[in-house]
Amino acid sequence: MNHQRSSMLFHQAKNSIPGGVNSPVRAFKSVGADPLFIKKASGPYIYDEDDNSFVDYVGSWGPMIVGHCHPDVVAAVKQTVDNGASFGAPTEREITLADMVIDAVPSIEMVRMVSSGTEATMSAIRLARGYTGRDNIIKFSGCYHGHADALLVKAGSGAATFGVPDSPGVPADFAKHTLTAEYNSLDSVKALVASNKNSIACIIVEPVAGNMGTVPPQEGFLEGLREMCSNEGIVLIFDEVMSGFRVAYGGAQELYGVTPDMTTLGKIIGGGLPVGAFGGKREIMEKLSPSGGVYQAGTLSGNPLAMSAGIATLNILKQPGFYQKLEDKSRAVAEGIAKAAKDAGFPLYSTRVGSMFCAFFTKGEVRDWPSAAQCDTKAFAKYFLAMLDEGIYLAPSQFETAFVSAAHSEADIEKTIVAAARAFKQIA
Ligand SMILES: *Cc1c(COP(=O)(O)O)cnc(C)c1O
Repeated sequence: MNHQRSSMLFHQAKNSIPGGVNSPVRAFKSVGADPLFIKKASGPYIYDEDDNSFVDYVGSWGPMIVGHCHPDVVAAVKQTVDNGASFGAPTEREITLADMVIDAVPSIEMVRMVSSGTEATMSAIRLARGYTGRDNIIKFSGCYHGHADALLVKAGSGAATFGVPDSPGVPADFAKHTLTAEYNSLDSVKALVASNKNSIACIIVEPVAGNMGTVPPQEGFLEGLREMCSNEGIVLIFDEVMSGFRVAYGGAQELYGVTPDMTTLGKIIGGGLPVGAFGGKREIMEKLSPSGGVYQAGTLSGNPLAMSAGIATLNILKQPGFYQKLEDKSRAVAEGIAKAAKDAGFPLYSTRVGSMFCAFFTKGEVRDWPSAAQCDTKAFAKYFLAMLDEGIYLAPSQFETAFVSAAHSEADIEKTIVAAARAFKQIA
């Protein structure tokens, strides 16, 4: 496969952009290659600058659940931009999307729009602290909640991939209020809560961990967190930036029937444009400026183009049978890859929740960050490159989730499974 133009552009990019990319996970560093530069996309396919086409399982890292360039989304954005891209004043569309989010997500009674998932989580935590008057927070090893200072502690894929669990530039003082527990271990949370009585403002968790590969919550884990938070006056925050509108229309909280106090969203609700949101109980949300004292703001928050893309996307997701069809496709591709590995005698641990899935290159069960970290990342790198050569575009790291979209056809899935079978044979 010819990557000449991508290589040339990457060479050029490194001159003017640190590492040649505007977000570290885009670099192919951990798989020992150069990133492809993308020219365009359509449905389940992306096309690089050398005119190679790929079946895409990155989906812009989650947002493209209806596929690239869905005609409804494209039309909505085009129509909106004709009337102005941003006003810095309220618009009707913001109410429309807010009401759609409130209708969909069980925990959300009020919601504020921001421009990224990072903003959503950092603002949600500030609000939880303001609401409780407490400073400490608990997060889980391997969970990623954006790149705010206090959250760059044991933060999953990007950090794990590049071996910087704690980033330089984050003062120890800023991170000292962040306590880290082990995913799927209620005991590890209990111990932290017991030794920090009445000082924990919130527990923030990915209800389906998607930034250390895909790690589902074990039975009782989310329920246990809910109970502990209720007993201790701790705000439970589900970071559903990835899982929201992905694993079900109402997110993981709908799927598992556990309702947090606050929820952060992003990715899908922007339909591919920059968006984040945080919401929750009215009593908490009303503490936010200007109705309350906790400050949070944004020049482009609730941006008309992003609202339009989000509304158009959610309208597609609302159609009857959408998630069932996506479930069937996702099962087919995840099980197909797992079977191909087995047939090739290749050790693999497969996980999937709805249209999020991961093939972990390890024999053992993956339930948390220490077990995910056992994976053979060198073998994964070989697999990734072999798949790329077959025209299958996966995320360039073992510790990422693959995303299936409604646009993936049976033929695309069949092609993916055949490619995987060849890739496993090649590297076994
Ligand atoms: C992607 C992601 C974020 C960060 O969102 P950005 O828009 O990249 O800032 C936060 N939390 C989770 C769970 C995510 O997957």
